[in-house]
Amino acid sequence: MGICTGDEYLNRLRDGREVWLGGERVDDVTSHPSLKRGAGSMAQLLDRQHEETLSTRLTYSEPCSAERFAMSFLPPASVDDVVRRGAAFYDWAKWSNGMMGRTPDYLNCSFTAFANAAEYFAECRPQFAENVRNYYAQIRAKDLVLTHTLVNPQVNRHLTSQGLASPEVALRVVQETGEGLIVTGARLLATLGPLSDEIAVFPSTVLKADPEMKPYALAFALPNATPGMKYICRDSYDSGKSLFDAPLSGRFEEMDCIVVFDNVLVPWDRVFLYDRPELCNRAYAETNAVVHMMHQVVCKNLAKAEFIVGLLCAMTRASERDKDIAVQGQIAEAMWIAESMRAFLYSAEHQAEQDKWGLYVPLRCPLDTARNLFPKMYPRLIELVQLLGSSSLMATPCESDLTNALRPDVEQYLQLAHLNSRDRVALFRLAQDVAVSGFGGRQTLYERFFFGPPSVMTASYFKLYDSTEYVERVEELLEPTA
Ligand SMILES: Cc1cc2nc3c(=O)[nH]c(=O)nc-3n(C[C@H](O)[C@H](O)[C@H](O)COP(=O)(O)OP(=O)(O)OC[C@H]3O[C@@H](n4cnc5c(N)ncnc54)[C@H](O)[C@@H]3O)c2cc1C
Repeated sequence: MGICTGDEYLNRLRDGREVWLGGERVDDVTSHPSLKRGAGSMAQLLDRQHEETLSTRLTYSEPCSAERFAMSFLPPASVDDVVRRGAAFYDWAKWSNGMMGRTPDYLNCSFTAFANAAEYFAECRPQFAENVRNYYAQIRAKDLVLTHTLVNPQVNRHLTSQGLASPEVALRVVQETGEGLIVTGARLLATLGPLSDEIAVFPSTVLKADPEMKPYALAFALPNATPGMKYICRDSYDSGKSLFDAPLSGRFEEMDCIVVFDNVLVPWDRVFLYDRPELCNRAYAETNAVVHMMHQVVCKNLAKAEFIVGLLCAMTRASERDKDIAVQGQIAEAMWIAESMRAFLYSAEHQAEQDKWGLYVPLRCPLDTARNLFPKMYPRLIELVQLLGSSSLMATPCESDLTNALRPDVEQYLQLAHLNSRDRVALFRLAQDVAVSGFGGRQTLYERFFFGPPSVMTASYFKLYDSTEYVERVEELLEPTA
């Protein structure tokens, strides 16, 4: 037990789960043409934990035990632990250049925080504290891969803005039995759904603290093959092209899904919160799970921004455009974004403090600043790729054109000052996969929204920010002086 291998993970996915894609039910997600390479990439990621040179960076063990666990399950007991865990988050993010946002560390660290703050769940019902501790122990021991879903589909935005849910669609408890809760309804959006072992369902943070909202106030986790549960996938961005032609979409299709629950039984030992909207609303903030998740996210942001800097430099160096002072200025902007992420990360990690639950937590403010800025910064990074790539992003013959009858034309007309035609096509196909393809468009949408509605994140930042001293400084100048 402890860290799993890629093969063990792939075998677990062959469990009869109900997944729908492109109008058909998927028989086996590990062999389906649109999903198998994403699954294979996740398997490779898990295998890296077993590599001798990486094992100490990506995993940890407890004193007097040889069993190793993913570093994202480490409950940080010092600033050093926070830094150590950040290094593992960053390593995983760098492996996909941030293009697989939903690696398992994102949710592993949230359950580490929940288990450590189990007494919070006990406020709801004493049994829930034990449930959350047991669940953390299980996912850590088996190295399970989780997806999660927080948001109900919106029928009426006015209702949602008042913290109410639509009874026709929102996930809700329809019956309590001796065995558990029966739930029905839909949730958005489960990234990695078909490629995960289990789903964690938590409430979005704005339920009205009102008795009528009790059926919607719930948090639980279930295996994906639970009867009555189904995933409805969006179109896949992996169309089976070669990795030369589709260097990112051919590797990192993590898939997003609607998840439907049709009278699904959630056993009592899998329930973490129920019928207390006010406890649901505060769960992420009170346990600091949200801060641990931000830590993983900012490590991903750094790896992703660095990659775009590398891409812009490679694109412009190839044609000597990098000698142009205006182009240098544009790329410098991308460099500032990467360096801002690095600085936020350093500041948060090195000012980590112990919270009331005993865990060391990175300082929230720098991470929260980063998570509010990146949804604006990433679209700008992509805009820079488009501005500096322009028509070269479309002058992209495919791999076969390098060997078929077009070869002489491609060799002749696609050369660049510092790149032969093959390498130019490869580079600009990569750039178009980042900035123009469906995969690239989804990456931008992901960065804008995956952590929640930007307006809501900004409002919560505003409320938490302590500006008292700054206002006092202003007020001092308003007082009459002697
Ligand atoms: C690629 C992708 C992957 C995702 N993966 C997951 C996942 O794995 N798990 C999960 O739970 N969720 C996931 N999400 C969903 C994400 O949590 C939601 O997109 C996000 O919370 C916004 O909700 P919404 O899409 O319903 O947009 P809405 O809430 O409808 O927001 C739309 C716009 O309205 C603005 N808005 C919202 N409320 C207000 C307000 N009160 N005042 C003013 N403006 C407002 C928002 O800022 C936004 O610009 C994912 C989203 C994307 C795009």
